[in-house]
Amino acid sequence: MSKTVLITGSTSGIGLGIAHQFAKEGYNIMFHGLETNGQDIANEVGKKHHIKVGFSNANLLQSEAIENLVNETIDTFGSLHVLVNNAGIQFVSPIEDFPNSKYENIIAINMNAVFYASKAVWKQMKKQKFGRIINVSSVHGIRASEFKSAYVTAKHGVIGMTKVLALEGAEFNITCNAICPGYVKTPLVEGQIKDQAKAHNMTEDEVVEKVMLKKQAVKQFVPLEAIANMALLLAKDSSTTITGTSFVLDGGWSAQ
Ligand code: NAD
Repeated sequence: MSKTVLITGSTSGIGLGIAHQFAKEGYNIMFHGLETNGQDIANEVGKKHHIKVGFSNANLLQSEAIENLVNETIDTFGSLHVLVNNAGIQFVSPIEDFPNSKYENIIAINMNAVFYASKAVWKQMKKQKFGRIINVSSVHGIRASEFKSAYVTAKHGVIGMTKVLALEGAEFNITCNAICPGYVKTPLVEGQIKDQAKAHNMTEDEVVEKVMLKKQAVKQFVPLEAIANMALLLAKDSSTTITGTSFVLDGGWSAQ
């Protein structure tokens, strides 16, 4: 029987990249995200890979909506084996001008939603005696950059939560791990490139080279496939002892 994966924020960027790889492996997928063409994306991937798909645009700012998203997944597929907590947002500003509402939304979506979704899947994963929770943190979960107070706080928090859930899940074959990418070229980063080009009065190419990839030893964006392959590995039956840790795919950024 095919396994079920719920991937938050899977109608864009990294989440969609992860969804494509899980689809190739025959997982049934609950797609999720705020993109207006989300249902079409889900249907297309489902048709291409002959897998069962669902789609939800649950707003991760609301804990009740997150619970409903998990329950809808279990009702639709009758199981939930893998949860990928991937959805996230970014906002960059010096702390003294950082709008409180932006701070609160980043903490809510990038960190609190990981708690609510993981809590909601727990009973089902315990019952199955199988669960894989994969949190998409960031190199900013282990390193700081200026002007990212909310994002760095949330991503560090996710790594702490990952360790706790690994300890609590151990006796039930529920593992929890984090993936920490460096820069990946997705809509989230494309927005930052445009903003930084304006802020630094540079071309977009200059921003990529001199600002974004400055801290990575490997001067390339992290490919989606690398992250998706890591997620697939963590989801495997045989990965039961890989838990409570972070996998850093940052082109050597944190080696320095
Ligand atoms: P993206 O903007 O392409 O996708 C984000 C997804 O989250 C979208 O589907 C969006 O609809 C969803 N989302 C945002 N707010 C939501 C809300 N309130 N309710 C429901 N869904 C919501 O971004 P991405 O670059 O693919 O980022 C995915 C994850 O990877 C994020 O957690 C991000 O922090 C992390 N990350 C990204 C990079 C990078 O360089 N792109 C690097 C490290 C970590």
